[in-house]
Amino acid sequence: MRKMYSTMEIDEPPSNGILSVTNPSALQKEATILTTHTNYNSSLSKKPLKFSQQNKPNPRNVMHRVAKGNLRAHITISANTREFINKFYPEIADEKWNDWHWQVANRIRTLEKLQNMIDLSDSELEAIKLHNGPLPFAITPYYASLLNAKDANQPIRRTVVMTREENFLAPGEAVDPLGEEDDSPVPGIVHRYPDRVLFLTTGFCSVYCRYCTRSRMVGVPGGEAQYNIQQWGKAIEYIKSHTEIRDVLLSGGDPLTLADERLEWLLSNLRAIPHVEFIRIGTKVPVVLPQRITPKLVEMIRKYHPVWMSIHFTHPDEITPEVSDALQRLADAGIPLGSQTVLLKGINDSVDVMKKLFHELLKNRVKPYYMYQCDPVSGTSHFRTSVSKGIEIIAGLRGYTTGYAIPNYVIDAPGGGGKIPILPEYVQGHENGNLILKNYEGKLFSYPDIVENTLK
Ligand code: SF4
Repeated sequence: MRKMYSTMEIDEPPSNGILSVTNPSALQKEATILTTHTNYNSSLSKKPLKFSQQNKPNPRNVMHRVAKGNLRAHITISANTREFINKFYPEIADEKWNDWHWQVANRIRTLEKLQNMIDLSDSELEAIKLHNGPLPFAITPYYASLLNAKDANQPIRRTVVMTREENFLAPGEAVDPLGEEDDSPVPGIVHRYPDRVLFLTTGFCSVYCRYCTRSRMVGVPGGEAQYNIQQWGKAIEYIKSHTEIRDVLLSGGDPLTLADERLEWLLSNLRAIPHVEFIRIGTKVPVVLPQRITPKLVEMIRKYHPVWMSIHFTHPDEITPEVSDALQRLADAGIPLGSQTVLLKGINDSVDVMKKLFHELLKNRVKPYYMYQCDPVSGTSHFRTSVSKGIEIIAGLRGYTTGYAIPNYVIDAPGGGGKIPILPEYVQGHENGNLILKNYEGKLFSYPDIVENTLK
């Protein structure tokens, strides 16, 4: 994203610059880029993106529309967050606090600011001071309001505040463990599976997760990824020329950090491709920047249905009244919602925490979709659990709670093998023509299986 704004708006040549709290010039650039970001709507309104006859909203989607008045514009401020605002932003009016541009422009990105808000542990302090690479830290004021100022082991704090363990490289870890670069026919597209592609739209996120699979490319000023309209155009040409692609996942970085007009440009161009049946948006924004989910945004998205959304949740503490409001706006706009959760040691690696998270998600009309084994990204060994822990969690859910609350537990195979589902061993084998099955309580049952070749 940082590169996207620089190439779109600033025309800065690619560089390997690094954002670091010890690198003031990089911070200055970040500030410039964010200013550009804040002014994005106004700069675009001078040069509106044109919609051709071909890529006008699909009339069949009219049936998905409801009266505008049905979309909630109200944004809640929860009690804890109110306390935080009173303490750290007493001069900020609710209107400003609830403006997502303000939230993005005022992300906490310096040691000084963070130290003012939370008591940093020695490990956090050392990591921030020494940080000198991609994946800077950045936290929206809203998400910062959820952090425990005293407890460095608070689960959600651990996901966004770096620690010294990030500097350790464990065996098997790699900067691009999934081999995405090898499956990229044109910049920004990862084409791994037969009928679908991943479209990396930006390298910018409102909050940087410390275990990010794409840590090599997010938050980097410069770097290999060039996010600009020319690149998007080439990616769209690639999708147009591959008629087997029926499903496009917009990801990044976080596509919902794009201005409405940019996102609409992408959605309308994709919707104009006859063989693209299904568009998905992968995002953490509803969780860390719920203010972004405005009635205007959801009104725009619904014009390009079917659009689905995969939302990155980590812990039940993330489901606040603000987030519930945002999810309600998305669901009311007819956007099917699924969640993606990375299994993280000491953060959500228990049946109880996962069950609570998945139950809360269902209450908010989000289907728990994937639980990922943490990818072996460089510097993430402190986040990774054993695979048996993941199996234990799935076994502790299946049968004990609603089937809808159980996600697919998968390992994204290192080297580009794709997602491989991992299940407890429910199938125990065959005996006398019967399939021997173990149920959730460990009891054995037999099922009279059909042997296919006896049917001929
Ligand atoms: S929001 Fe997604 S892309 Fe961004 S840092 Fe977190 S995991 Fe990575």
